Amino acid sequence: MNLLKRQFGAKFVSDISRSPTLVADIKEIRKRGIKIRRIKGGDVAYTEKANKLICIGKNASASFRLTALAHEAYHALHGRQSIDRLQPGMTRRCFLNRVLNEETDCIVHELEVVHELLEAGVRWFDRGTMSWYHGWRRGGRAYIRRRVARTDNVFNEKFPDYYSRIYTELKHAKKSA
Ligand SMILES: [Zn+2]
Repeated sequence: MNLLKRQFGAKFVSDISRSPTLVADIKEIRKRGIKIRRIKGGDVAYTEKANKLICIGKNASASFRLTALAHEAYHALHGRQSIDRLQPGMTRRCFLNRVLNEETDCIVHELEVVHELLEAGVRWFDRGTMSWYHGWRRGGRAYIRRRVARTDNVFNEKFPDYYSRIYTELKHAKKSA
């Protein structure tokens, strides 16, 4: 936690400490030797599983930092579908299903943390997060899975289109390797 305090400030660490789920995630992240790194940029975050690395934008909003840490922790600790490499013989449909299901699970995990923090009095999540949160409270995981399929990523592509493009690139990379 001291390292996180140096990286992201005391307020961030005190917020984290109010979510038992997120505290447990960080413990497990440390145990497995996964590093959390600050990178250039605002609301941006990703996980490099092979490098045991979680990256979060230096200038991310307080809301994004918390939700991104919970989200990326789930990818790093429980994610199974690599988007760097295809398992032999994997079809496009199977790849898309696995990736979108993993994304759904990460968002649900993130919203469980949001729930704990809201209960603990952390009440400044942004509108986007609260919209996902209320949808999840009403419609559960099934709602999140449907919404993931029609959500745009940062490149203004729908997630399924984006991952379908990645599939094509991985297929091609494999042929030329
Ligand atoms: Zn994700």
